[in-house]
Amino acid sequence: MGTVYHVTVVDPPAGLAREAAAAGVDAALAEVNARMSTYRADSEVSRFNRAAPGEWFAVSADTADVVATALEVHARSGGAFDITVGPLVDLWGFGAGSKGEDRVPAEAEIAAAAARVGSGALRVRADPPALRKEAEREIDLSAIAKGYGVDRAALWLEGNGVANYMVEVGGEVRTAGRNPQGSKWRIGIEAPELQQGHAITAVALSGESVATSGDYRNYFESGGRRYSHTIDPATARPVDHALASVTVVAADCKTADALATAIDVLGPERGMAFAEREKLPVYLIVRAGGGFESRSSTAFAPYLVDRDAEAGP
Ligand code: ADP
Ligand code: MG
Repeated sequence: MGTVYHVTVVDPPAGLAREAAAAGVDAALAEVNARMSTYRADSEVSRFNRAAPGEWFAVSADTADVVATALEVHARSGGAFDITVGPLVDLWGFGAGSKGEDRVPAEAEIAAAAARVGSGALRVRADPPALRKEAEREIDLSAIAKGYGVDRAALWLEGNGVANYMVEVGGEVRTAGRNPQGSKWRIGIEAPELQQGHAITAVALSGESVATSGDYRNYFESGGRRYSHTIDPATARPVDHALASVTVVAADCKTADALATAIDVLGPERGMAFAEREKLPVYLIVRAGGGFESRSSTAFAPYLVDRDAEAGP
């Protein structure tokens, strides 16, 4: 997945050696990558992308599950989350198929790529697991597969008797049980260059996942503007708003990952309205007056670690 991962296990069952746990987690992540990466020509997703429209294409239950969640989040977010944005991601220089150029494409190129975008033309079937496109479409699971990898690694641990763990892949996290100190897991929220004196925020989790999406890690600059790797399917252009990062807590990491990207597309106002409407725990870092300010949804409050209260008298 082109990133680093960390796993912490507390009180592992007697029969589970450290090396065996590492190998199990490694294999779970490698399997997700082999099925869903667009950087591998032989992955299920790359082969589906080359397949002709109008026919069911057999995939693993894992891939069908991820695409089903992606289509759910697409519907819930009014189309903001869309795994068919690949042609636009490539055109803007970010995807597996891009030339990595930092340039603003011409109108005609944008229109041509946008014509190949739209999750409305995708179908998914659970049994037997298969995908189908009704028109020329490519899928890009970059905004959800990392979270799914975290889920699969976590489920491997649970299946091997681990009750207390924290799995983190490239900033996306899933937790269960207690940390080594016997408390909930404390997960710091990755922040852009926050002002001096601004406390780093953390969430306390036990059994939940958390994912962050933002424009401060992957972007290019041209003509004094910042171009994010998150594409708004409604405009066929990189998102252009004051939102620097979005953090979402959810029961599983694939959902947290997808929702974080969806809210990143919606921007600070519509994103927060979506979070309140759906009662989602969401934390935003928004650019304001040369600095940053944070905003959290009502449902986020129970997860927020109160640093002042923790410091004590
Ligand atoms: P990160 O954790 O690095 O911020 P994300 O989870 O936000 O990553 O995913 C970003 C990637 O998702 C992009 O590089 C692109 O491949 C893909 N993507 C871009 N825009 C969208 C979108 N509107 N819906 C779904 N996927 C998108
Ligand atoms: Mg995401």
